[in-house]
Amino acid sequence: GFKMGIVGLPNVGKSTLFNALTRTAAAQAANFPFCTIEPNVGEVAVPDTRLDALAGIAKSKAIVPTRMTFVDIAGLVKGASQGEGLGNQFLANIRECDAIAHVLRCFEDPDVTHVDGRVDPVADAQTIETELMLSDLDSIERRLQNLTRKVRGGDKEAVQQERLLKEAQAVLEQGLPARTVDVSEDDQKAWRMLQLLTTKPILYVCNVAEDEAATGNAQSERVREMAAEQNAGMVVISAQIEEEIAQLDAEEAAEFLSELGLEEAGLDRLIKAGYDLLGLMTYFTVGPKEARAWTVKRGTLAPQAAGVIHGDFERGFIRAETTAFDDYVALGGEAGAKEAGKMRVEGKSYEVKDGDVMHFLHSG
Ligand code: GDP
Repeated sequence: GFKMGIVGLPNVGKSTLFNALTRTAAAQAANFPFCTIEPNVGEVAVPDTRLDALAGIAKSKAIVPTRMTFVDIAGLVKGASQGEGLGNQFLANIRECDAIAHVLRCFEDPDVTHVDGRVDPVADAQTIETELMLSDLDSIERRLQNLTRKVRGGDKEAVQQERLLKEAQAVLEQGLPARTVDVSEDDQKAWRMLQLLTTKPILYVCNVAEDEAATGNAQSERVREMAAEQNAGMVVISAQIEEEIAQLDAEEAAEFLSELGLEEAGLDRLIKAGYDLLGLMTYFTVGPKEARAWTVKRGTLAPQAAGVIHGDFERGFIRAETTAFDDYVALGGEAGAKEAGKMRVEGKSYEVKDGDVMHFLHSG
């Protein structure tokens, strides 16, 4: 599955947010097989109303949403790249994540200490980014040293790695994150394997006061501008509201949200924004037993999409029967779609679309 690491300076609301996420997941656990894997790791359902619509039509017994993992990565402070705070352990945790949800304090509260004594989310973002850049520079230096022998021996992979590491080093030395390097199609895979921290996509999570959750505030507007410049994602959330919502049942939660002028829980927006940031999409499998959502990267071909369900489905892939979500709903399900010629038969080179309802035919 895909993993988002929650980072941020101390006292910005990370734990509050993470607890709300996992409490919601725990509440869902009665219906769905989700759980908190470790104290700081939680799996949450990706909200998708299409799934309920499909289950309704097919009279599916169970609904199984797709899920995303969140990791609460505490311990980032100024100097982390030099081993302060939890230092290296913290950085290793980020390395394993597909993207970073960076919580920024955008609320004023004299009772909650800010590590630098002022509320300035843009400066906070830079503090953390600087630590990540220093850490990347450090690991690049070490890796370049380790590569020397292999490069001299003419190892092709090592030569490629060295070239990419040097490109990253050059931009980092100018004070820019490694994600600003223009990477060619041929180098993409090797580039990702380097797992540099400042190549991870970022979602800025602005934690605002309860009465500003619907509107945001001046601080979150500054973050919005910064995010736009960096091509990063951004959501406005009140961690405290989310914590309260996490303790309500669905009906109460909806009522509470509408009182606050919100259409959707912040956590739902957060999960969806993470999903978009990672370039993910959803396809469905629907039957009387269950209606289920599956996550794949945009651009995934049918056999690889099938492989998410089971490796055998990919290896023995023959063809897929595919119905677009809108057709499935408009035509009242599979039989109607088939009759109207809207259930297509697709082969190995079919690029799966968001919302496709799929049946895979496979051997073995
Ligand atoms: P972490 O260190 O980033 O994990 O921060 P916590 O989630 O532990 O929050 C630190 C403190 O800030 C706690 O006392 C929270 O109750 C408080 N807090 C978190 N979010 C908000 C908020 O939106 N408004 C206010 N006033 N306090 C908050």
